[in-house]
Amino acid sequence: MEIDVVIIGAGPSGIQAAIHAARRKVSTVIVGKPTNSAMYDADIVNYFGIAEPVKGSVLLKAGLEQAKASGAELVEENVISAERKGKTFLVSTEGGKEYTAKAVIVATGISRVKLGIPGEKELVGKGVSYCSVCDCSFYKGKTVAVIGDETEAALSAELMSKYASHVYWITEKPKAVKALVERAKLAGVVMKSSPPAEIRGDDKVTALVLKDGTELPLDGVFIELGAKSAADLVMDMDLMPEIDDTIKVDERYATKVPGLFACGDVIGKPWQVARAVGQGCMAGLSAADFLKGVK
Ligand SMILES: Cc1cc2nc3c(=O)[nH]c(=O)nc-3n(C[C@H](O)[C@H](O)[C@H](O)COP(=O)(O)OP(=O)(O)OC[C@H]3O[C@@H](n4cnc5c(N)ncnc54)[C@H](O)[C@@H]3O)c2cc1C
Repeated sequence: MEIDVVIIGAGPSGIQAAIHAARRKVSTVIVGKPTNSAMYDADIVNYFGIAEPVKGSVLLKAGLEQAKASGAELVEENVISAERKGKTFLVSTEGGKEYTAKAVIVATGISRVKLGIPGEKELVGKGVSYCSVCDCSFYKGKTVAVIGDETEAALSAELMSKYASHVYWITEKPKAVKALVERAKLAGVVMKSSPPAEIRGDDKVTALVLKDGTELPLDGVFIELGAKSAADLVMDMDLMPEIDDTIKVDERYATKVPGLFACGDVIGKPWQVARAVGQGCMAGLSAADFLKGVK
């Protein structure tokens, strides 16, 4: 099927791109599963106009309705390949659908690196978090642990010390710059070098057990190990992802391949809904401009 713009990814960035592209009257298809968006199960509290926690799934559903009302179509499938064919792109889905698109917007997000210890999966959203900037305010006066060796973990430990009453930083060997490690220590963060072994709790986190047998009673565990992305999808569209697995774009969210755009978490940090939505708006408008020959 021939289409003006295919958007790969049905998270906030892809959906906002679809709203803006479709309203410029270019034919628009979003391919992706909203249930796989990073925000689907999240309680969003720091998005403009949203004061009380709102489930990401609620915002996604409303956004998709807006995108459909604007003229976009949603195909709830994964893309298995996307190739550049001369001036167009051939996008193929797991269900066997094929789209020949004049423009493609990649909004595939990231997936956070997991620890893989017992209790982690079961307690996500019940005290296990992958984003301290998102969830810090839920832990005022509580005890938390931050897990990870790199800069994200150091920043997270320092941030959490402004909210929680006790913060442990679980790091075998901190690899963040020395000044950040010192700042975390000065903020009263207690460092533990034994690796995590198990997160305990039933309907909420109650303790973190370390490999040396220490059990730390606590309310929250922040896993700050970074993320990987689906950026390799762009390689057959003649674009190499960056060394850190992100996609490089210019100020109009265009890549160096004509007609190929990217937005949201897949192009880098901070991984936040507000940023993903703003970039989606820009990528959608830029793709429409490209199709209409606007410089
Ligand atoms: C637990 C948690 C809590 C969070 N809380 C907050 C918060 O309070 N505030 C905040 O601002 N941010 C929060 N975030 C971050 C926020 O969810 C992300 O920044 C945001 O969802 C990024 O939007 P995106 O559209 O770039 O990517 P995503 O929302 O991750 O969407 C990516 C989409 O791409 C699709 N996709 C991937 N690969 C393919 C493929 N091959 N084919 C088709 N589709 C594909 C996925 O299925 C998904 O639909 C939180 C994240 C997590 C994990």
